[in-house]
Amino acid sequence: STPTDYALEARGLTKSFGGFHAVKDVTLKVRRGSIHALIGPNGAGKTTCFNLLTKTLTPTSGQVLLDGQDITGLRSAQVARLGLVRSFQISATFPHLTCLENVRVALQSSQGTAFRFWRSLNSIKALNDPARALLAQVGLSGQEDTPATELSYGKKRALEIATTLALDPKVMLLDEPTAGMGHEDIAPITDLIRTVSAGRTILIVEHNLSVVSSLCERITVLQHGEVLTEGTYDEVSNDPEVITAYMGG
Ligand code: ADP
Repeated sequence: STPTDYALEARGLTKSFGGFHAVKDVTLKVRRGSIHALIGPNGAGKTTCFNLLTKTLTPTSGQVLLDGQDITGLRSAQVARLGLVRSFQISATFPHLTCLENVRVALQSSQGTAFRFWRSLNSIKALNDPARALLAQVGLSGQEDTPATELSYGKKRALEIATTLALDPKVMLLDEPTAGMGHEDIAPITDLIRTVSAGRTILIVEHNLSVVSSLCERITVLQHGEVLTEGTYDEVSNDPEVITAYMGG
């Protein structure tokens, strides 16, 4: 297999804070078109990895490649423009704007025009149709005029996915998409992630292992900042080292 089989790659990624290695020599290969999970106990280095991949943190050493292109030296806005976009955790929505307005703002910013206040009203309205289409894609048809703040928790997350899709990402990093969700919201968000994964590559940090097993082709397990193992759900969930790591060993 050539390097370009992978939409996203980390090579020997290391981040130290003082003398402490939060992430140590992590190599990660995310196959194009796949949903790949990054899991591990608390403190394993998952968030630090995401921050290194999207360049909100600079690695101490190692490289990040997007479609085989070295993006290690780039800033986070440049990484996003190249199609590597993160969702969740950093709230992507404006609570007092309506759903339609939120997606329109995201569409405008993806066109680099977010702060051109002198844009004519007509050209802003031209974004209504694509914004409506994105809301429909995430199951929010009929909620166009609802302020984001009035949505249920699960629907807020769906709106965040719509604002992420507005950037037309090649690779989406999803940060704990089911965190804090009740049982009733988990199945719909899982289905939604599966739907939006068509034609895209997704790397997901997820604590709910049944979500991981139903969505993800490959799983990388981190422990103490290092890759413990990588494989299919069946492979990693039967690995005695993984079982020990999750029991706090
Ligand atoms: P996870 O997301 O898997 O829970 P993190 O990436 O948040 O793990 O953290 C990995 C380790 O790095 C933890 O021990 C954490 O305390 C440490 N860490 C994370 N960020 C910093 C920082 N800015 N300074 C010092 N230590 C940090």
